[in-house]
Amino acid sequence: MFNKILIANRGEIACRVIKTAHRLGIKCVAVYSEADRNARHVAMADEAFLLGPAPSSESYLRADRIIEICKESGAQAVHPGYGFLSENTEFANACERNGIVFIGPPSSAIAAMGSKSAAKAIMETAGVPLVPGYHGDDQSPDTLKREAEKCGFPLLLKAVAGGGGKGMRVVESLKAFDEALTSACREAKNAFGNPNMLIEKYLTQPRHVEIQVFCDSQGNGVYLAERDCSIQRRHQKVIEEAPAPGLSDDTRRAMGEAAVRAAQAIDYVGAGTVEFLYDVDGSFYFMEMNTRLQVEHPVTEMITGLDLVEWQLRVADGEPLPLKQDEIKIRGHALEARIYAEDPDQDFLPATGTLRYLRTPDESAHVRVDTGVIEGDEVSVYYDPMIAKLIVWDDSREGAINRMVQALEQYRIGGLKTNTRFLHRLADATPFREVQLDTGFIERHRERLF
Ligand code: ADP
Repeated sequence: MFNKILIANRGEIACRVIKTAHRLGIKCVAVYSEADRNARHVAMADEAFLLGPAPSSESYLRADRIIEICKESGAQAVHPGYGFLSENTEFANACERNGIVFIGPPSSAIAAMGSKSAAKAIMETAGVPLVPGYHGDDQSPDTLKREAEKCGFPLLLKAVAGGGGKGMRVVESLKAFDEALTSACREAKNAFGNPNMLIEKYLTQPRHVEIQVFCDSQGNGVYLAERDCSIQRRHQKVIEEAPAPGLSDDTRRAMGEAAVRAAQAIDYVGAGTVEFLYDVDGSFYFMEMNTRLQVEHPVTEMITGLDLVEWQLRVADGEPLPLKQDEIKIRGHALEARIYAEDPDQDFLPATGTLRYLRTPDESAHVRVDTGVIEGDEVSVYYDPMIAKLIVWDDSREGAINRMVQALEQYRIGGLKTNTRFLHRLADATPFREVQLDTGFIERHRERLF
Protein backbone atom coordinates (compact mmCIF):
# COMPACT_ATOMS: atom_id res chain seq x y z
CA MET A 1 0.00 0.00 0.00
CA PHE A 2 1.07 3.62 -0.54
CA ASN A 3 3.13 5.23 2.25
CA LYS A 4 2.12 8.75 1.41
CA ILE A 5 -0.56 10.39 -0.72
CA LEU A 6 -1.42 13.97 -1.60
CA ILE A 7 -4.99 15.22 -1.40
CA ALA A 8 -5.60 17.74 -4.17
CA ASN A 9 -8.68 19.24 -2.62
CA ARG A 10 -10.05 21.13 0.37
CA GLY A 11 -13.03 21.12 2.72
CA GLU A 12 -15.00 18.11 3.83
CA ILE A 13 -13.80 15.75 1.11
CA ALA A 14 -10.13 16.40 1.88
CA CYS A 15 -10.84 15.65 5.56
CA ARG A 16 -12.85 12.58 4.60
CA VAL A 17 -9.99 11.13 2.53
CA ILE A 18 -7.39 11.87 5.23
CA LYS A 19 -9.47 10.01 7.79
CA THR A 20 -9.44 6.74 5.85
CA ALA A 21 -5.82 7.13 4.73
CA HIS A 22 -4.72 7.56 8.35
CA ARG A 23 -6.72 4.52 9.40
CA LEU A 24 -4.77 2.55 6.79
CA GLY A 25 -1.47 3.98 8.04
CA ILE A 26 -0.91 6.23 5.02
CA LYS A 27 0.67 9.68 5.52
CA CYS A 28 -1.21 12.59 3.99
CA VAL A 29 0.04 15.72 2.27
CA ALA A 30 -2.45 18.58 2.16
CA VAL A 31 -2.38 21.51 -0.23
CA TYR A 32 -4.05 24.83 0.52
CA SER A 33 -4.69 28.33 -0.72
CA GLU A 34 -3.95 31.53 1.19
CA ALA A 35 -7.60 31.59 2.30
CA ASP A 36 -7.25 28.09 3.79
CA ARG A 37 -4.10 28.49 5.92
CA ASN A 38 -5.99 27.52 9.06
CA ALA A 39 -8.38 25.08 7.45
CA ARG A 40 -9.30 21.80 9.08
CA HIS A 41 -7.87 19.69 6.25
CA VAL A 42 -4.47 21.37 6.72
CA ALA A 43 -4.52 20.71 10.46
CA MET A 44 -5.46 17.05 9.91
CA ALA A 45 -2.71 16.33 7.39
CA ASP A 46 0.86 15.25 8.18
CA GLU A 47 2.35 17.91 5.92
CA ALA A 48 0.90 20.86 4.06
CA PHE A 49 2.02 23.00 1.14
CA LEU A 50 0.80 26.40 0.06
CA LEU A 51 -0.51 26.47 -3.51
CA GLY A 52 -1.16 30.16 -4.01
CA PRO A 53 -3.79 32.88 -3.65
CA ALA A 54 -7.42 32.15 -2.84
CA PRO A 55 -9.01 31.96 -6.31
CA SER A 56 -9.12 28.30 -7.40
CA SER A 57 -7.47 29.10 -10.73
CA GLU A 58 -4.40 30.22 -8.75
CA SER A 59 -4.52 27.42 -6.18
CA TYR A 60 -6.59 24.21 -6.29
CA LEU A 61 -6.60 24.14 -10.10
CA ARG A 62 -2.81 24.53 -10.38
CA ALA A 63 -2.04 21.05 -11.74
CA ASP A 64 1.62 21.96 -12.30
CA ARG A 65 2.16 23.03 -8.69
CA ILE A 66 0.42 19.94 -7.36
CA ILE A 67 2.66 17.62 -9.40
CA GLU A 68 5.70 19.56 -8.14
CA ILE A 69 4.54 19.18 -4.54
CA CYS A 70 4.05 15.43 -5.05
CA LYS A 71 7.67 15.16 -6.10
CA GLU A 72 8.93 17.42 -3.35
CA SER A 73 7.01 15.60 -0.62
CA GLY A 74 7.47 12.09 -1.99
CA ALA A 75 3.73 11.46 -2.31
CA GLN A 76 3.20 8.38 -4.48
CA ALA A 77 -0.41 9.05 -5.38
CA VAL A 78 -2.95 11.87 -5.63
CA HIS A 79 -6.55 11.75 -4.47
CA PRO A 80 -8.45 14.46 -6.36
CA GLY A 81 -11.70 14.40 -4.33
CA TYR A 82 -14.61 15.83 -6.35
CA GLY A 83 -14.70 19.09 -8.27
CA PHE A 84 -11.44 20.94 -9.05
CA LEU A 85 -9.11 18.56 -10.94
CA SER A 86 -11.05 15.35 -10.31
CA GLU A 87 -12.34 14.98 -13.86
CA ASN A 88 -9.53 16.76 -15.66
CA THR A 89 -8.00 14.52 -18.32
CA GLU A 90 -4.82 16.56 -18.57
CA PHE A 91 -4.18 16.37 -14.85
CA ALA A 92 -4.73 12.59 -14.78
CA ASN A 93 -2.37 12.37 -17.76
CA ALA A 94 0.26 14.56 -16.11
CA CYS A 95 0.17 12.29 -13.04
CA GLU A 96 0.60 9.22 -15.24
CA ARG A 97 3.52 10.87 -17.09
CA ASN A 98 5.26 11.75 -13.84
CA GLY A 99 4.92 8.31 -12.31
CA ILE A 100 2.35 9.46 -9.75
CA VAL A 101 -0.73 7.30 -9.27
CA PHE A 102 -3.95 9.19 -9.95
CA ILE A 103 -6.54 7.76 -7.54
CA GLY A 104 -9.27 7.56 -10.13
CA PRO A 105 -9.88 6.07 -13.54
CA PRO A 106 -7.39 6.15 -16.43
CA SER A 107 -7.41 9.51 -18.26
CA SER A 108 -8.93 7.78 -21.30
CA ALA A 109 -12.04 6.88 -19.28
CA ILE A 110 -12.39 10.45 -17.99
CA ALA A 111 -12.07 11.73 -21.55
CA ALA A 112 -14.66 9.24 -22.83
CA MET A 113 -17.27 10.51 -20.35
CA GLY A 114 -16.21 14.18 -20.53
CA SER A 115 -18.54 14.86 -23.40
CA LYS A 116 -22.18 13.97 -22.79
CA SER A 117 -22.73 13.29 -26.48
CA ALA A 118 -19.69 11.04 -26.92
CA ALA A 119 -20.69 9.26 -23.70
CA LYS A 120 -24.16 8.60 -25.08
CA ALA A 121 -22.72 7.17 -28.28
CA ILE A 122 -20.54 4.76 -26.27
CA MET A 123 -23.46 3.73 -24.07
CA GLU A 124 -25.67 3.12 -27.07
CA THR A 125 -23.08 0.65 -28.37
CA ALA A 126 -22.84 -0.99 -24.95
CA GLY A 127 -26.60 -1.58 -24.93
CA VAL A 128 -27.34 0.85 -22.10
CA PRO A 129 -30.79 2.49 -22.55
CA LEU A 130 -30.68 6.21 -23.51
CA VAL A 131 -33.21 9.04 -23.30
CA PRO A 132 -34.49 9.37 -26.86
CA GLY A 133 -33.05 12.38 -28.66
CA TYR A 134 -30.06 13.59 -30.68
CA HIS A 135 -26.39 13.50 -29.79
CA GLY A 136 -24.76 13.94 -33.18
CA ASP A 137 -21.79 16.01 -34.29
CA ASP A 138 -23.72 18.06 -36.83
CA GLN A 139 -24.51 21.19 -34.85
CA SER A 140 -26.02 23.38 -37.53
CA PRO A 141 -29.17 25.17 -36.25
CA ASP A 142 -31.21 23.60 -39.07
CA THR A 143 -30.21 20.08 -38.13
CA LEU A 144 -30.83 20.72 -34.46
CA LYS A 145 -34.26 22.11 -35.22
CA ARG A 146 -35.15 19.17 -37.42
CA GLU A 147 -34.00 16.77 -34.71
CA ALA A 148 -36.02 18.74 -32.15
CA GLU A 149 -39.17 18.27 -34.22
CA LYS A 150 -38.42 14.58 -34.54
CA CYS A 151 -37.92 14.29 -30.77
CA GLY A 152 -41.09 16.18 -29.90
CA PHE A 153 -41.86 18.64 -27.10
CA PRO A 154 -41.20 19.32 -24.32
CA LEU A 155 -37.51 18.63 -24.88
CA LEU A 156 -34.31 19.44 -23.09
CA LEU A 157 -31.33 21.17 -24.63
CA LYS A 158 -28.17 20.17 -22.82
CA ALA A 159 -24.60 21.37 -23.20
CA VAL A 160 -22.45 18.39 -24.27
CA ALA A 161 -19.65 19.76 -22.09
CA GLY A 162 -22.08 20.68 -19.29
CA GLY A 163 -22.14 20.13 -15.58
CA GLY A 164 -23.83 21.60 -12.54
CA GLY A 165 -27.07 22.16 -14.44
CA LYS A 166 -25.53 24.92 -16.61
CA GLY A 167 -26.32 25.25 -20.30
CA MET A 168 -29.64 23.41 -19.94
CA ARG A 169 -32.98 24.67 -21.28
CA VAL A 170 -36.40 23.08 -21.30
CA VAL A 171 -38.12 23.91 -24.58
CA GLU A 172 -41.90 23.65 -24.57
CA SER A 173 -42.66 24.19 -28.24
CA LEU A 174 -41.11 24.57 -31.68
CA LYS A 175 -41.88 28.29 -31.51
CA ALA A 176 -39.61 28.70 -28.48
CA PHE A 177 -36.78 26.59 -29.92
CA ASP A 178 -34.61 29.16 -31.72
CA GLU A 179 -34.41 31.52 -28.81
CA ALA A 180 -33.70 28.72 -26.30
CA LEU A 181 -30.96 27.33 -28.55
CA THR A 182 -29.23 30.71 -28.86
CA SER A 183 -29.25 31.36 -25.13
CA ALA A 184 -28.25 27.80 -24.15
CA CYS A 185 -25.32 27.87 -26.61
CA ARG A 186 -24.21 31.24 -25.30
CA GLU A 187 -24.31 30.03 -21.69
CA ALA A 188 -22.48 26.80 -22.58
CA LYS A 189 -19.80 28.67 -24.49
CA ASN A 190 -19.20 31.01 -21.55
CA ALA A 191 -19.22 28.29 -18.91
CA PHE A 192 -17.41 25.45 -20.72
CA GLY A 193 -15.86 27.01 -23.83
CA ASN A 194 -18.00 24.69 -25.94
CA PRO A 195 -21.42 25.69 -27.34
CA ASN A 196 -22.42 22.22 -28.60
CA MET A 197 -25.81 20.88 -27.61
CA LEU A 198 -27.58 17.61 -27.39
CA ILE A 199 -31.32 17.13 -27.45
CA GLU A 200 -33.28 14.90 -25.11
CA LYS A 201 -36.92 14.16 -24.63
CA TYR A 202 -37.86 16.01 -21.44
CA LEU A 203 -39.32 13.57 -18.95
CA THR A 204 -41.89 15.46 -16.94
CA GLN A 205 -41.75 13.62 -13.62
CA PRO A 206 -38.59 11.51 -13.58
CA ARG A 207 -36.62 10.39 -10.61
CA HIS A 208 -32.84 10.70 -10.54
CA VAL A 209 -31.50 7.27 -9.63
CA GLU A 210 -27.79 6.60 -9.84
CA ILE A 211 -25.68 3.50 -9.43
CA GLN A 212 -22.38 3.37 -7.58
CA VAL A 213 -19.98 1.21 -9.54
CA PHE A 214 -16.48 0.02 -8.75
CA CYS A 215 -13.96 -1.61 -11.06
CA ASP A 216 -10.45 -2.91 -10.51
CA SER A 217 -7.51 -3.05 -12.88
CA GLN A 218 -8.02 -6.81 -13.35
CA GLY A 219 -11.27 -6.12 -15.22
CA ASN A 220 -13.74 -6.96 -12.41
CA GLY A 221 -16.72 -4.68 -11.86
CA VAL A 222 -19.49 -4.53 -9.24
CA TYR A 223 -22.36 -2.20 -8.34
CA LEU A 224 -22.92 -1.03 -4.78
CA ALA A 225 -26.66 -0.45 -4.96
CA GLU A 226 -28.29 2.79 -5.98
CA ARG A 227 -28.99 6.27 -4.64
CA ASP A 228 -32.07 8.36 -5.21
CA CYS A 229 -31.17 12.02 -5.75
CA SER A 230 -34.54 13.30 -6.94
CA ILE A 231 -34.78 16.04 -4.33
CA GLN A 232 -33.12 18.79 -6.35
CA ARG A 233 -33.29 22.54 -6.67
CA ARG A 234 -32.41 23.83 -10.11
CA HIS A 235 -31.00 20.44 -11.07
CA GLN A 236 -28.72 20.44 -8.02
CA LYS A 237 -29.02 17.71 -5.42
CA VAL A 238 -30.27 18.69 -1.96
CA ILE A 239 -31.18 15.43 -0.19
CA GLU A 240 -29.97 12.01 -1.30
CA GLU A 241 -30.91 8.57 -0.07
CA ALA A 242 -30.04 4.91 -0.46
CA PRO A 243 -31.51 2.59 -1.42
CA ALA A 244 -33.98 4.25 -3.81
CA PRO A 245 -37.40 3.56 -2.28
CA GLY A 246 -39.97 1.56 -4.19
CA LEU A 247 -37.80 0.02 -6.91
CA SER A 248 -38.35 -3.63 -7.68
CA ASP A 249 -35.46 -6.04 -7.23
CA ASP A 250 -35.56 -6.71 -10.97
CA THR A 251 -35.18 -3.02 -11.79
CA ARG A 252 -32.37 -2.68 -9.28
CA ARG A 253 -30.51 -5.56 -10.82
CA ALA A 254 -31.13 -4.36 -14.39
CA MET A 255 -29.85 -0.87 -13.54
CA GLY A 256 -26.84 -2.23 -11.67
CA GLU A 257 -25.88 -4.53 -14.52
CA ALA A 258 -26.33 -1.76 -17.10
CA ALA A 259 -24.10 0.50 -15.01
CA VAL A 260 -21.34 -2.10 -14.78
CA ARG A 261 -21.64 -2.62 -18.56
CA ALA A 262 -21.30 1.13 -19.00
CA ALA A 263 -18.15 1.22 -16.88
CA GLN A 264 -16.60 -1.79 -18.56
CA ALA A 265 -17.31 -0.29 -21.98
CA ILE A 266 -14.69 2.37 -21.20
CA ASP A 267 -12.25 0.13 -19.30
CA TYR A 268 -13.08 1.87 -16.09
CA VAL A 269 -11.03 1.54 -12.90
CA GLY A 270 -12.03 2.84 -9.47
CA ALA A 271 -15.20 4.48 -8.15
CA GLY A 272 -17.73 5.81 -10.62
CA THR A 273 -21.37 6.76 -10.75
CA VAL A 274 -23.75 6.06 -13.58
CA GLU A 275 -26.71 8.43 -13.46
CA PHE A 276 -30.09 7.39 -14.77
CA LEU A 277 -33.46 9.00 -15.14
CA TYR A 278 -36.09 6.66 -13.82
CA ASP A 279 -39.65 6.93 -15.08
CA VAL A 280 -42.80 6.00 -13.17
CA ASP A 281 -43.37 3.00 -15.42
CA GLY A 282 -40.06 1.48 -14.27
CA SER A 283 -38.06 2.33 -17.40
CA PHE A 284 -34.67 3.99 -16.96
CA TYR A 285 -32.33 5.91 -19.20
CA PHE A 286 -28.61 6.67 -19.03
CA MET A 287 -27.86 10.35 -18.36
CA GLU A 288 -24.16 10.55 -17.66
CA MET A 289 -21.31 8.90 -15.85
CA ASN A 290 -19.32 10.77 -13.22
CA THR A 291 -15.78 9.51 -13.11
CA ARG A 292 -15.02 10.32 -9.48
CA LEU A 293 -16.21 9.86 -5.93
CA GLN A 294 -19.55 11.67 -5.52
CA VAL A 295 -20.53 14.11 -2.78
CA GLU A 296 -23.30 11.69 -1.78
CA HIS A 297 -21.14 8.55 -1.49
CA PRO A 298 -21.68 8.30 2.32
CA VAL A 299 -25.27 7.04 1.95
CA THR A 300 -23.88 4.08 0.03
CA GLU A 301 -21.29 3.52 2.76
CA MET A 302 -23.98 3.54 5.43
CA ILE A 303 -26.12 0.85 3.80
CA THR A 304 -23.23 -1.37 2.68
CA GLY A 305 -20.97 -0.91 5.71
CA LEU A 306 -18.07 -0.31 3.30
CA ASP A 307 -15.51 2.50 3.11
CA LEU A 308 -15.43 3.66 -0.50
CA VAL A 309 -12.26 5.69 -0.05
CA GLU A 310 -10.53 2.55 1.22
CA TRP A 311 -11.72 0.72 -1.90
CA GLN A 312 -10.39 3.56 -4.05
CA LEU A 313 -6.98 3.36 -2.39
CA ARG A 314 -6.78 -0.42 -2.69
CA VAL A 315 -7.85 -0.49 -6.33
CA ALA A 316 -5.46 2.37 -7.19
CA ASP A 317 -2.67 0.34 -5.60
CA GLY A 318 -3.47 -2.54 -7.96
CA GLU A 319 -5.41 -4.77 -5.55
CA PRO A 320 -8.49 -6.59 -6.82
CA LEU A 321 -11.96 -5.51 -5.60
CA PRO A 322 -12.40 -6.53 -1.93
CA LEU A 323 -15.81 -8.16 -2.57
CA LYS A 324 -17.70 -9.95 -5.33
CA GLN A 325 -21.19 -8.92 -6.39
CA ASP A 326 -22.99 -11.55 -4.32
CA GLU A 327 -20.96 -10.64 -1.23
CA ILE A 328 -22.26 -7.06 -1.22
CA LYS A 329 -25.15 -6.79 1.22
CA ILE A 330 -27.53 -3.90 1.78
CA ARG A 331 -28.81 -3.06 5.25
CA GLY A 332 -31.29 -0.41 6.33
CA HIS A 333 -31.76 3.05 4.87
CA ALA A 334 -29.58 6.17 4.75
CA LEU A 335 -30.22 9.84 3.98
CA GLU A 336 -27.86 12.73 3.37
CA ALA A 337 -28.70 16.43 3.59
CA ARG A 338 -26.33 19.04 2.21
CA ILE A 339 -25.96 21.91 4.65
CA TYR A 340 -25.13 25.10 2.81
CA ALA A 341 -24.27 28.66 3.75
CA GLU A 342 -27.03 30.25 1.75
CA ASP A 343 -30.11 32.37 2.27
CA PRO A 344 -33.40 30.62 1.43
CA ASP A 345 -35.18 33.98 1.72
CA GLN A 346 -33.02 35.46 -1.01
CA ASP A 347 -33.39 32.75 -3.58
CA PHE A 348 -30.64 30.70 -1.96
CA LEU A 349 -27.94 33.27 -2.59
CA PRO A 350 -24.63 31.92 -1.22
CA ALA A 351 -23.92 33.42 2.21
CA THR A 352 -20.46 34.35 3.43
CA GLY A 353 -19.12 35.19 6.85
CA THR A 354 -17.74 33.70 10.04
CA LEU A 355 -19.12 30.54 11.62
CA ARG A 356 -19.44 32.22 15.02
CA TYR A 357 -21.23 29.33 16.63
CA LEU A 358 -21.30 25.71 15.58
CA ARG A 359 -22.88 22.75 17.35
CA THR A 360 -23.17 19.52 15.44
CA PRO A 361 -25.47 16.65 16.44
CA ASP A 362 -23.87 13.81 18.42
CA GLU A 363 -22.32 11.29 16.08
CA SER A 364 -23.16 7.60 16.45
CA ALA A 365 -23.85 4.53 14.36
CA HIS A 366 -26.94 6.44 13.24
CA VAL A 367 -25.59 9.93 12.66
CA ARG A 368 -22.50 11.04 10.76
CA VAL A 369 -21.29 14.56 10.01
CA ASP A 370 -18.78 15.06 7.20
CA THR A 371 -17.39 18.56 7.37
CA GLY A 372 -14.30 20.62 6.63
CA VAL A 373 -14.98 23.49 9.02
CA ILE A 374 -14.85 24.25 12.73
CA GLU A 375 -16.26 27.08 14.81
CA GLY A 376 -14.58 30.37 13.97
CA ASP A 377 -13.89 29.45 10.34
CA GLU A 378 -14.69 31.78 7.50
CA VAL A 379 -17.01 30.77 4.65
CA SER A 380 -15.56 32.76 1.78
CA VAL A 381 -16.77 33.69 -1.68
CA TYR A 382 -14.04 31.62 -3.30
CA TYR A 383 -15.36 28.09 -2.95
CA ASP A 384 -18.50 26.04 -2.80
CA PRO A 385 -20.44 27.22 0.29
CA MET A 386 -21.22 23.71 1.57
CA ILE A 387 -20.68 23.62 5.35
CA ALA A 388 -21.32 19.96 5.99
CA LYS A 389 -23.07 16.80 4.95
CA LEU A 390 -25.38 15.33 7.53
CA ILE A 391 -25.84 11.61 7.06
CA VAL A 392 -28.21 9.36 9.00
CA TRP A 393 -28.94 5.66 9.01
CA ASP A 394 -31.69 3.47 10.42
CA ASP A 395 -33.35 0.11 9.82
CA SER A 396 -36.21 1.65 7.85
CA ARG A 397 -36.69 4.75 5.70
CA GLU A 398 -39.15 6.13 8.20
CA GLY A 399 -36.66 5.66 11.00
CA ALA A 400 -33.95 7.36 8.95
CA ILE A 401 -36.22 10.32 8.21
CA ASN A 402 -37.00 10.70 11.93
CA ARG A 403 -33.27 10.64 12.67
CA MET A 404 -32.65 13.29 10.02
CA VAL A 405 -35.37 15.58 11.36
CA GLN A 406 -34.00 15.21 14.88
CA ALA A 407 -30.38 15.74 13.84
CA LEU A 408 -31.29 18.87 11.89
CA GLU A 409 -32.95 20.22 15.03
CA GLN A 410 -29.73 19.62 16.94
CA TYR A 411 -27.57 21.32 14.32
CA ARG A 412 -26.85 24.89 15.44
CA ILE A 413 -25.04 27.33 13.20
CA GLY A 414 -24.64 30.97 14.14
CA GLY A 415 -23.04 33.84 12.27
CA LEU A 416 -24.38 33.24 8.80
CA LYS A 417 -27.50 32.17 6.98
CA THR A 418 -27.93 28.47 6.23
CA ASN A 419 -30.50 26.18 4.67
CA THR A 420 -31.02 23.97 7.75
CA ARG A 421 -34.64 25.03 8.35
CA PHE A 422 -35.43 24.44 4.69
CA LEU A 423 -33.86 20.97 4.92
CA HIS A 424 -35.89 20.28 8.04
CA ARG A 425 -39.15 21.19 6.32
CA LEU A 426 -38.16 19.06 3.33
CA ALA A 427 -37.26 15.95 5.31
CA ASP A 428 -40.39 16.27 7.43
CA ALA A 429 -42.79 16.96 4.54
CA THR A 430 -45.58 14.38 4.24
CA PRO A 431 -45.14 13.87 0.46
CA PHE A 432 -41.44 13.16 1.04
CA ARG A 433 -42.29 10.65 3.73
CA GLU A 434 -44.82 9.12 1.35
CA VAL A 435 -42.18 8.69 -1.38
CA GLN A 436 -43.83 11.06 -3.84
CA LEU A 437 -40.41 11.61 -5.34
CA ASP A 438 -39.44 13.21 -8.62
CA THR A 439 -37.05 15.96 -9.65
CA GLY A 440 -39.87 18.54 -9.57
CA PHE A 441 -40.59 17.90 -5.87
CA ILE A 442 -39.17 21.13 -4.43
CA GLU A 443 -40.72 23.35 -7.08
CA ARG A 444 -44.12 21.69 -6.69
CA HIS A 445 -44.12 22.12 -2.90
CA ARG A 446 -42.43 25.50 -2.73
CA GLU A 447 -45.35 27.08 -0.86
CA ARG A 448 -44.89 24.81 2.12
CA LEU A 449 -41.08 24.58 1.94
CA PHE A 450 -39.93 28.20 1.61
P1 ADP B 1 -25.37 18.25 -15.07
O1 ADP B 1 -24.19 17.46 -15.56
O2 ADP B 1 -25.35 19.67 -15.51
O3 ADP B 1 -25.66 18.05 -13.61
P2 ADP B 1 -27.30 16.20 -15.85
O4 ADP B 1 -27.33 15.66 -17.23
O5 ADP B 1 -26.65 15.34 -14.79
O6 ADP B 1 -26.62 17.65 -15.88
O7 ADP B 1 -28.75 16.55 -15.39
C1 ADP B 1 -29.00 17.20 -14.16
C2 ADP B 1 -30.45 17.04 -13.77
O8 ADP B 1 -31.31 17.56 -14.78
C3 ADP B 1 -30.91 15.61 -13.56
O9 ADP B 1 -30.62 15.13 -12.27
C4 ADP B 1 -32.41 15.74 -13.80
O10 ADP B 1 -33.04 16.29 -12.67
C5 ADP B 1 -32.49 16.77 -14.89
N1 ADP B 1 -32.57 16.17 -16.25
C6 ADP B 1 -31.54 15.83 -17.05
N2 ADP B 1 -31.96 15.29 -18.21
C7 ADP B 1 -33.31 15.29 -18.17
C8 ADP B 1 -34.36 14.87 -19.09
N3 ADP B 1 -34.09 14.36 -20.28
N4 ADP B 1 -35.63 15.03 -18.68
C9 ADP B 1 -35.93 15.56 -17.47
N5 ADP B 1 -35.01 15.99 -16.59
C10 ADP B 1 -33.71 15.85 -16.91
